[in-house]
Formats: sequence, C-alpha cells, structure tokens
Amino acid sequence: MRVASGEVVVETRRRIEVVDVTGLVEKWLSGVSGGDGLLIVRVPHTTAAVTINEAEPGLLEDIVRVIEEYFRPGGDWMHNRIDNNAHAHLAASFIGDSRVVPVSSGRLQLGTWQRILLVEGDGPRRRRLQLLYIGE
Ligand code: ZN
Repeated sequence: MRVASGEVVVETRRRIEVVDVTGLVEKWLSGVSGGDGLLIVRVPHTTAAVTINEAEPGLLEDIVRVIEEYFRPGGDWMHNRIDNNAHAHLAASFIGDSRVVPVSSGRLQLGTWQRILLVEGDGPRRRRLQLLYIGE
C-alpha cells in the first residue's frame, strides 16, 4: 500500500473561470506512483470547485455562463450582505470540492475527452489543489 499527498498551486486570472489542471495533476502523479490506485483531487476552498469534463474552450465559457446565469453574481443572496461572493459559494456547493480518478500503471484513467477542471468562482486568486494518492 502506498499513500502520498501533495499540493499544487493554481493562479487564476478572472473572477469566474474554468482552468484545465490535468497537466499539473499528471506531473505530480508521475513523481509519486507508477502503480494502480485512486487519486483524490480537491480544493480546500469554499468559492472554488473541481469537476471533470471536456476542456473545449466554448464549453469552458458555457460553464462560466451557467454560474453567471444561475448563481447570479451580485444577486440578492443573504450572503452578499456580508461578503459579495454568494454566487461563488453556491456554485462551489453544487459542483463540489473534489473528484476521484482511478489510476492504472501510474496514469490517470480519464476518458478520451475528460479533463480535470478547477472552477474559480471568486478570483483572481492563488488556489491550492490538494492531491491524495492511495494505491500500490
Ligand atoms: Zn463569502
């Protein structure tokens, strides 16, 4: 059994943005394991999230649009009375803080079009991406 944990930092550039972090995650994993296991990818944040989907640029903008249209930045949310970022907390709550990816022979077992995406809701910020590998 092998367990390894680490962290990579992602600098986001826009208030709401979707960043493909697959390459960073693969680079970290290559230094950790050549075996089989599971990789947990998470953010220790309340206004950012992790999802897995296609990194087609139009789709990444569509995710931003969904956050803008459904979670309404500047909307009449209760949380905006104390901190004007309720939309980011709401989006992060619904998307979730983490994903689990199977690893085989040290490689992420993603589908052809799947990428690991960090969803920024209240940037630009330095975001910590926590990685936990559990396997052989
Ligand atoms: Zn807040």
